[in-house]
Amino acid sequence: MNDQPLVTKINSALGEILRRKPMVSIVCPCYNEEPMLPIYYEAMERIVFSQLAKYDFELILINDGSKDKTLSILRELAQKDERLKYISFSRNFGKEAAMYAGLKNAKGDYVCVMDCDLQDPPEMIATMLDRLDTEDCDCVATRRVTRKGEPKIRSAFARAFYRIINKISDTEFVDGARDFRMMRRCVVDAVLDLPEYHRFSKGIFMWVGFNTAWLEYENIERVAGETKWSFWKLTKYAIEGIVSFSTAPLQLATAVGSIVSALALIYMVIRVVIAMIWGNPVAGYPSLLAITLCLGGFILLALGIIGEYVARTYMQVKQRPIYIQKESNID
Ligand code: UDP
Ligand code: MG
Repeated sequence: MNDQPLVTKINSALGEILRRKPMVSIVCPCYNEEPMLPIYYEAMERIVFSQLAKYDFELILINDGSKDKTLSILRELAQKDERLKYISFSRNFGKEAAMYAGLKNAKGDYVCVMDCDLQDPPEMIATMLDRLDTEDCDCVATRRVTRKGEPKIRSAFARAFYRIINKISDTEFVDGARDFRMMRRCVVDAVLDLPEYHRFSKGIFMWVGFNTAWLEYENIERVAGETKWSFWKLTKYAIEGIVSFSTAPLQLATAVGSIVSALALIYMVIRVVIAMIWGNPVAGYPSLLAITLCLGGFILLALGIIGEYVARTYMQVKQRPIYIQKESNID
């Protein structure tokens, strides 16, 4: 009879667990999204929170050092709705850092990452949760099958990026994959276990593995505000992806160096033979200059590539935090 209270306690804890609805955390990075936030919040309330009564929700919005009124809108929304949590950074740390902060603070059994410009349709959240409930998968991810409304040059470069990275990396990259996805807790914990400073989430999500189901949809244009990605920023992001998930560029110098050395050796033998038969007329200044410039260029390129890796190693070794939080309503 001594353990009766323990049994009661276990029973009530079990009852609590059984009564508790599964919790879904929605993580959404925001940078200068003043015009978008009220529209986004209204859409989420109408399409997700009020429709999916089976779940409890928390909406984690990360203010990534916005220069407009994003933070004050977040404060106002958080006062009206206790499901709304926000984290505000001390400056702009980038979308990757914002997603990381959101995942780290998410308490849900399921965690969804999405943008707040409604390019990631909230209607799909119900389908995602449904598939997680009914299928044997740990993550439901999305990919755009069209790039309608996007500048042609941007689409062409994006395709080239996916072709290259899939050739040189062991991790599979899906063309058109968005960051918009719903994950079970186990996937989120695995993602958070990767302590890298330079985060390339599209690769990290694939690298951690687990069963992923894919939902496809047509590209939707931003509802308000403008894209934060310039062509230069996207190029840097692509380099980030390649350097984070492949060391093949480092082998380029070895490969080209070996070929050039072999050719140089053959050429030397030919020159010696020619000199022995016909003497040594001084000629070939232009070809000498071309070869020197070409090799000089290649050596600089190889050094640059090594530099990219060294720089990342350097940043990682410094162990700076991925983001700095200035304000939040999460305890
Ligand atoms: N974003 C961010 N920090 C940045 C840039 C963007 O948090 O430095 C957020 C932005 O507010 C949006 C999402 O990341 O919610 C995607 O950005 P955007 O719509 O500009 O990108 P695109 O859809 O054009 O790729
Ligand atoms: Mg967008």
